[in-house]
Amino acid sequence: MISVEQAKKILAENSERGQIIEKKLGECLGLILAENIYSPIDVPSFDNSAMDGYAMNFDENSRSWVVSNIIQAGDTSEINIASGKAARIFTGAKIPKGTNTVIPQELIEVIEVDQIKYIGDKISSGSNVRLKGSQSKKNSLILEKGQIFGAGQIGLFASVGVSQVKVFATPKVGFIVTGNELKEPGTPLKDGEIYNSNGPMLEALLKESGVKQIKSYKAPDDKASLQKIIDQALSENDILLLSGGISVGDYDFVKDCLNAAKVEELFYKIKQRPGKPMFAGKKDKKMIFALPGNPASVHSCFIQYVRPSIKHWLGKTAVWEADHKLKITEDIPKKPGFTYFMKGRKVNNSVELLKGQQSFNLQAFATAECLLELPAESSEVTAGTKVKVYDL
Ligand code: AMP
Ligand code: MG
Repeated sequence: MISVEQAKKILAENSERGQIIEKKLGECLGLILAENIYSPIDVPSFDNSAMDGYAMNFDENSRSWVVSNIIQAGDTSEINIASGKAARIFTGAKIPKGTNTVIPQELIEVIEVDQIKYIGDKISSGSNVRLKGSQSKKNSLILEKGQIFGAGQIGLFASVGVSQVKVFATPKVGFIVTGNELKEPGTPLKDGEIYNSNGPMLEALLKESGVKQIKSYKAPDDKASLQKIIDQALSENDILLLSGGISVGDYDFVKDCLNAAKVEELFYKIKQRPGKPMFAGKKDKKMIFALPGNPASVHSCFIQYVRPSIKHWLGKTAVWEADHKLKITEDIPKKPGFTYFMKGRKVNNSVELLKGQQSFNLQAFATAECLLELPAESSEVTAGTKVKVYDL
């Protein structure tokens, strides 16, 4: 049996990265940029007006001008404004030659149809002109690789005209829930049966982690059937998760079947609660995680081992670290030798333990915001001690 730290180290060394592929900008939300992006153009690519108003060559001594042109946003013609003249101009329109300043229309009095007068005192030469390149200079670095695509990044790229980028491909992930006792929510239960909560939970955890291609499988506790489903799921996915059947019971066949499928063991059993009998393996570049069947174990093992490994695949860095170190609000007794992962809630910059921490009990998930980690060596962690906290 290995420690949590050893398990994470082994996974960090063995986790794979997705292939670098080209994607259209509109398909990049949530993906990770796999190249540095330099702006192909100056943005703005021309000096333009920041206001609806009038453009002229401003000088302190003159306050009235004759309007000789009207320039709309999108007008691409070359316009020259003579000295003493002004152009009616609108936000985003190209600043015409012969002018350097825009006076907003609110500060202008129209004396006659084509005669205007400036009635303010704050304008100086250059006011209200957005200069070429003032957002992005041509060939300047606008985003480093490793950044995740959100709406802002997509908007920035669109503004410089980038329509296709290199990103890390997302993995195809399959999960197999095992157990004869499982029924789907929405169907009646016989005595001795339970609802399959791991399946829907795993699917949601995968989606929350940025996985887009997900396949679910169900296997009975029968070796031949399980083997068939494992072989099929391995051939169809990059990452395979299993729930249940990995412990020491007479009907726990997952480990035997993974061996038969030539999955190489990275580790089996971690000194942790919940989730001791967790298995991780590899077959070529495929990652395999067999999680114990108890729902809290599935959830905790996913957050600690599967999610970081998926994030690594997606191209993220620093995926193995805790999100915070926060003080706990009460004394928590524990058995030394095992790392505990417990469901908690953040309160005033501390973390509070929730009721119902047993590995079969899902009630705490109704309000849990994080998992807190109690170190293996301690026999009691006292109130006020800072512990590692992982956001859900
Ligand atoms: P196992 O590891 O297969 O012995 O399962 C451990 C416990 O988790 C048993 O009480 C199972 O009934 C339960 N369990 C296994 N799979 C699921 C599932 N998909 N949803 C809810 N509970 C499960
Ligand atoms: Mg089982």
